[in-house]
Amino acid sequence: MTEFLNYINGAWVQAKSGKTFASKNPATGEIVAEVPLSGREDIEAAVEAAKNAYKAWRLTPAPRRGEILFRVAELLKEHKEDIARLMTQEMGKILIETRGDVQEAIDMAYYMGGEGRRLLGYTAPVEMPNKFGMAIRDSVGVVGLITPWNFPVAVPSWKMLPALIAGNCVVFKPSEDTPAVAAAFVKVFELAGLPAGVLNLVLGAGETGDALVSHPHVRIISFTGSTDTGLKIYTKAASLGKKVTLEMGGKNAIIVMDDANLDLAADAITWSAFGTTGQRCTATSRLIVHKAIKPRLIERLVEKAKTLRLGNGLEEQVNMGPLVNQKALDKVASYLQVARAEGAQVLAGGSRYDELPNGYFFQPTLLDGIKAGMRVEQEEIFGPVLSIVEIGSLDEAIEVNNNTAYGLSSSIFTENVNAAFQAIRDITTGIVYINHGTTGAEIQFPFGGTRGTGNGMREAGQVGLDSFTEWKSVYVDFSGRLQRAQIDTERILGEG
Ligand code: ADP
Repeated sequence: MTEFLNYINGAWVQAKSGKTFASKNPATGEIVAEVPLSGREDIEAAVEAAKNAYKAWRLTPAPRRGEILFRVAELLKEHKEDIARLMTQEMGKILIETRGDVQEAIDMAYYMGGEGRRLLGYTAPVEMPNKFGMAIRDSVGVVGLITPWNFPVAVPSWKMLPALIAGNCVVFKPSEDTPAVAAAFVKVFELAGLPAGVLNLVLGAGETGDALVSHPHVRIISFTGSTDTGLKIYTKAASLGKKVTLEMGGKNAIIVMDDANLDLAADAITWSAFGTTGQRCTATSRLIVHKAIKPRLIERLVEKAKTLRLGNGLEEQVNMGPLVNQKALDKVASYLQVARAEGAQVLAGGSRYDELPNGYFFQPTLLDGIKAGMRVEQEEIFGPVLSIVEIGSLDEAIEVNNNTAYGLSSSIFTENVNAAFQAIRDITTGIVYINHGTTGAEIQFPFGGTRGTGNGMREAGQVGLDSFTEWKSVYVDFSGRLQRAQIDTERILGEG
């Protein structure tokens, strides 16, 4: 379907230096694609193209921009299976998950296409007669997107589609672990008729991203990825006066109370903890369970963990793919050492899956005996590892849930409506689920978290436009006369 190259000013090109790097399949070690390793000069060319394209794109009526996004949605539907397969090959998650990843972008393309006929501002009454006031959303210019490998189509779509519908031009720097699928995604925008330069793709690693953050003409950076990198980018961008949207880690929990439906809970915990091999920012990595039902729930979880089938995600019967790369495998393995040193008991898994030595497979792992405050209970492991913390009351459960440096997603299983509403009120994460796992975001609602998960911005939904627009307040005085009344002068001077 596509060449896996940079896409700059409407052309598919190599890096100016001619350098390349290989993207590899984490399940097999095979090379998926050899792609450009771009440098500062490629970022400069992409920003220049975006800057030039902005003049016409911002003046293109938003409903026309929306029509292009509708075509993007239709084309994504047409190419969904090809893109999903490429994604599974490149980053390892199983086909039903990669299809879901593309579906998220389809939903977002329809939603943001519809924004072409909304992009709502507002009017409000004004002080003086014969004057009209309104607040409208305005585009900003060139925006830079830096994204991770775990949702290589969905996460860029949360950024790209609102940025484009608002009239901005984009330079997109995807993860070095998923360059090919990023190119396949961008190809769809080309096929949909997006004008040259409006969306540009520059493949590369951290230094390429740094060149984008540093570029003086890039006014906004939207980042999803690890906390270390996010904070580095935030610091640099802030020193350059840029607006930043950050989405970083999570240490998400499911609370299971003594009145919960344990079959539903066990199913949700298994998929939230081990889906995408635990490599979702919303993955469940803590189970906070009431002591009265803990043994019964654990029995179900151990059974489920032991029957999950690991393998190449292209095979339909496989339940869990590999970790994304050697670094991820080493990190998860090192946390098992930490857990053992902290006194955890391994109820299932606990080590690499040796039957598939060519891939980065780690067994679904359950850790019991975890106390609130232990490192494995506090730090993001980003792998298929679930820490089990026992509690004796709802208040205790909510306290343990809230007491982490992150604040993305939480869930509670209970049949008690009072407990459910108390949890909705008192849980302090950005997303709360009742009787549902911690994963699964619909694009019409805000997505993001509190505390160390982000910087207060949200993606998706109406508020997703806030990252990529500025407000312009407009006053129209149609009186045609000097407004000399005392009150007018006071107001005008007072308002600065
Ligand atoms: P991971 O999610 O793989 O742990 P990162 O959070 O470092 O890794 O990566 C997320 C994205 O940030 C990737 O596209 C990566 O290339 C990019 N990136 C890494 N370091 C930097 C940096 N210093 N400046 C800008 N972008 C970076």
